[in-house]
Amino acid sequence: MAIYKVEWDTNEEQVELPKEVSVPDEVLPDDVADWLSNRYGWCISELERVKHQCSRQELTWEKEPLKDGDIIFYRGICPTCSKAWELVFVEVIHGLWDVENNKYVNI
Ligand SMILES: [Zn+2]
Repeated sequence: MAIYKVEWDTNEEQVELPKEVSVPDEVLPDDVADWLSNRYGWCISELERVKHQCSRQELTWEKEPLKDGDIIFYRGICPTCSKAWELVFVEVIHGLWDVENNKYVNI
Protein backbone atom coordinates (compact mmCIF):
# COMPACT_ATOMS: atom_id res chain seq x y z
CA MET A 1 0.00 0.00 0.00
CA ALA A 2 1.65 3.23 -1.15
CA ILE A 3 0.89 6.40 0.78
CA TYR A 4 0.59 9.72 -1.00
CA LYS A 5 0.44 13.20 0.39
CA VAL A 6 -2.12 15.10 -1.65
CA GLU A 7 -2.79 18.79 -2.18
CA TRP A 8 -6.26 19.05 -3.66
CA ASP A 9 -7.31 21.68 -6.13
CA THR A 10 -10.70 22.65 -4.71
CA ASN A 11 -11.01 26.15 -6.16
CA GLU A 12 -10.93 27.46 -2.59
CA GLU A 13 -14.07 25.55 -1.75
CA GLN A 14 -14.08 24.01 1.74
CA VAL A 15 -14.15 20.29 1.12
CA GLU A 16 -13.34 17.45 3.50
CA LEU A 17 -10.60 15.56 1.72
CA PRO A 18 -7.82 13.40 3.11
CA LYS A 19 -4.31 14.83 3.17
CA GLU A 20 -2.80 11.36 3.05
CA VAL A 21 -4.28 8.59 0.98
CA SER A 22 -3.30 4.95 0.64
CA VAL A 23 -3.26 3.83 -2.96
CA PRO A 24 -3.34 0.13 -3.89
CA ASP A 25 -0.02 -1.18 -5.19
CA GLU A 26 -1.56 -2.18 -8.50
CA VAL A 27 -2.11 1.49 -9.41
CA LEU A 28 0.93 2.55 -11.45
CA PRO A 29 2.74 5.70 -10.27
CA ASP A 30 1.75 7.58 -13.46
CA ASP A 31 -1.91 6.77 -12.85
CA VAL A 32 -2.11 7.82 -9.19
CA ALA A 33 -3.41 11.34 -9.85
CA ASP A 34 -6.14 10.01 -12.15
CA TRP A 35 -7.03 7.28 -9.69
CA LEU A 36 -7.37 9.83 -6.88
CA SER A 37 -9.47 12.29 -8.83
CA ASN A 38 -11.74 9.49 -10.06
CA ARG A 39 -12.20 8.29 -6.53
CA TYR A 40 -12.73 11.64 -4.78
CA GLY A 41 -14.03 13.78 -7.62
CA TRP A 42 -11.45 16.55 -7.24
CA CYS A 43 -8.29 17.44 -9.10
CA ILE A 44 -4.88 17.29 -7.55
CA SER A 45 -2.48 20.20 -7.50
CA GLU A 46 0.39 18.40 -5.79
CA LEU A 47 1.18 14.80 -5.15
CA GLU A 48 4.04 13.30 -3.23
CA ARG A 49 4.71 9.73 -2.26
CA VAL A 50 5.55 9.63 1.43
CA LYS A 51 6.85 7.17 3.95
CA HIS A 52 3.94 6.68 6.27
CA GLN A 53 4.28 6.28 10.01
CA CYS A 54 1.15 5.24 11.85
CA SER A 55 0.28 7.53 14.74
CA ARG A 56 -1.42 6.23 17.85
CA GLN A 57 -3.74 9.24 18.01
CA GLU A 58 -5.12 8.49 14.57
CA LEU A 59 -5.76 4.79 15.01
CA THR A 60 -9.37 3.65 15.11
CA TRP A 61 -9.99 1.32 18.04
CA GLU A 62 -12.66 -1.31 18.58
CA LYS A 63 -14.79 -0.35 21.57
CA GLU A 64 -14.78 -3.73 23.28
CA PRO A 65 -11.55 -5.08 24.75
CA LEU A 66 -10.49 -8.66 24.08
CA LYS A 67 -8.96 -11.01 26.62
CA ASP A 68 -6.27 -13.62 26.28
CA GLY A 69 -5.62 -15.03 29.73
CA ASP A 70 -4.33 -12.15 31.81
CA ILE A 71 -3.76 -9.98 28.80
CA ILE A 72 -6.39 -7.43 27.87
CA PHE A 73 -6.12 -5.79 24.50
CA TYR A 74 -7.94 -3.58 22.09
CA ARG A 75 -7.77 -4.13 18.36
CA GLY A 76 -7.17 -1.09 16.25
CA ILE A 77 -6.56 -0.18 12.67
CA CYS A 78 -4.75 2.67 10.97
CA PRO A 79 -7.23 4.51 8.76
CA THR A 80 -4.45 5.57 6.40
CA CYS A 81 -2.59 2.35 5.66
CA SER A 82 -4.97 -0.31 7.13
CA LYS A 83 -2.22 -1.72 9.33
CA ALA A 84 -3.57 -3.65 12.35
CA TRP A 85 -2.52 -2.75 15.88
CA GLU A 86 -3.23 -4.06 19.36
CA LEU A 87 -3.10 -1.96 22.49
CA VAL A 88 -2.10 -4.39 25.23
CA PHE A 89 -2.63 -4.16 28.95
CA VAL A 90 -0.94 -6.58 31.33
CA GLU A 91 -1.03 -6.12 35.05
CA VAL A 92 2.46 -6.00 36.49
CA ILE A 93 1.51 -8.14 39.47
CA HIS A 94 -1.82 -9.87 39.52
CA GLY A 95 -1.36 -12.31 42.37
CA LEU A 96 1.05 -14.37 44.36
CA TRP A 97 1.46 -17.91 43.08
CA ASP A 98 1.98 -20.61 45.69
CA VAL A 99 4.25 -23.06 43.85
CA GLU A 100 3.83 -25.88 46.34
CA ASN A 101 0.05 -25.80 46.27
CA ASN A 102 -0.39 -24.62 42.71
CA LYS A 103 -2.69 -21.73 43.47
CA TYR A 104 -2.85 -18.05 44.00
CA VAL A 105 -2.87 -16.98 47.62
CA ASN A 106 -3.43 -13.83 49.59
CA ILE A 107 -0.79 -13.34 52.23
ZN1 LIG B 1 -0.66 3.65 9.13
